[in-house]
Amino acid sequence: MSAPGSPAPPAAPRPAVVAVAGHDAPFPVRRIYCVGRNYLEHIREMQEGDERDPPFFFQKPADAVVSDGARVPYPPCTNDLQHEVELVVAIGDGGRDLSVSRALEAVYGYAVGVDLTRRDRQREAFAKGLPWEIGKAFDHSAPCGMVHPVAVVGHRLTGEIRLSVNGEPRQRGDLRQMIWNVPEIVAQLSRLYRLVPGDLVMTGTPAGVGALRPGDRVEAAVEGLSPLTFTIAPAEA
Ligand code: MN
Repeated sequence: MSAPGSPAPPAAPRPAVVAVAGHDAPFPVRRIYCVGRNYLEHIREMQEGDERDPPFFFQKPADAVVSDGARVPYPPCTNDLQHEVELVVAIGDGGRDLSVSRALEAVYGYAVGVDLTRRDRQREAFAKGLPWEIGKAFDHSAPCGMVHPVAVVGHRLTGEIRLSVNGEPRQRGDLRQMIWNVPEIVAQLSRLYRLVPGDLVMTGTPAGVGALRPGDRVEAAVEGLSPLTFTIAPAEA
């Protein structure tokens, strides 16, 4: 029964998903957790934070996820959109207070992602001691490539991670350079939040972050995983 004159509530939003290699069913995205400052050379290029700080986390909304091949509109309220290539961990079997030795059991698979950042807004927030949200958690801020199940590709704990813009190399590192490795990140995160199947964890970026402009074509890769490509489109009207 509906009340006369009262509009029905809106339809459910489209679920956020990422494609899974070898499966028709996609990976359903529940939350996107991100790790800050996890490669030494990137901490040094940013000139902020202590190199020995424990890992810290922030989130992006699930619907910020963008699929491989997409056009990403240049976001509003920034003149310094930057790329951060990251290994993405897809959680398939969650839990709380996972030990480091058992944390990898919670991982379903891996993907390559880019933590798009409004660097000017992030730096402003950092300087004022305000939350990073405006710099990090905006629409279309989480491009993510295809998820590859651990059962097929194994765990991605070493291997090259890189990003190029219009064919020009920008970021390059190795997963073994992470200050906090994947099991340590998953264990630490599970003390703060109950991890649930569908959670994604972006694990930090190596050095070489830089600006993107409309028209730029971004290619991000992690050894052993499908590359991620997307294009920066003009700002939305
Ligand atoms: Mn990042």
